[in-house]
Amino acid sequence: MLRQNERGNETAMLVEDILQQATIFGDNACWIWNGPVSEKGYGRIQIDGRKVLVHRFVYEKLKRPLMSIEGLHHKCKIKRCINPNHVEPFISDHPDGGPAFQRAKTHCPNGHEYTELNTYRPPSGGRICRICRRKKDEIRNAKGRNHGKKRT
Ligand SMILES: [Zn+2]
Ligand SMILES: [Zn+2]
Repeated sequence: MLRQNERGNETAMLVEDILQQATIFGDNACWIWNGPVSEKGYGRIQIDGRKVLVHRFVYEKLKRPLMSIEGLHHKCKIKRCINPNHVEPFISDHPDGGPAFQRAKTHCPNGHEYTELNTYRPPSGGRICRICRRKKDEIRNAKGRNHGKKRT
């Protein structure tokens, strides 16, 4: 077995090795993993016989350890990206989302971008797409015009 300090060096070397296998476009740009990937498209390697997700490993080494219930959401949407600044931890029972994941969404369910102008933030929290809201209002108004006379 390795002694503690040698173990630490080994980990540092591993991170170095991993970064060698990635194309790094810059500190703030995507670090694209060029090694093996899992069925889901995430970089995956074996360490001590254990399958390890590369972006997770790099995050833990360069940022902080993650709990097993913590997932990492790719803000940049590039699954092979291993830049720890491009992923955001979230805690959720559901594999594809918790509140942090919702916040990271850039488009409404109908595909409109959440720009500053197009985002309405109700006091109750969350975000509402203004385009969709306007469409709903238009539909409601149209219905109101058509059926208004029938209402009591
Ligand atoms: Zn990225
Ligand atoms: Zn919308």
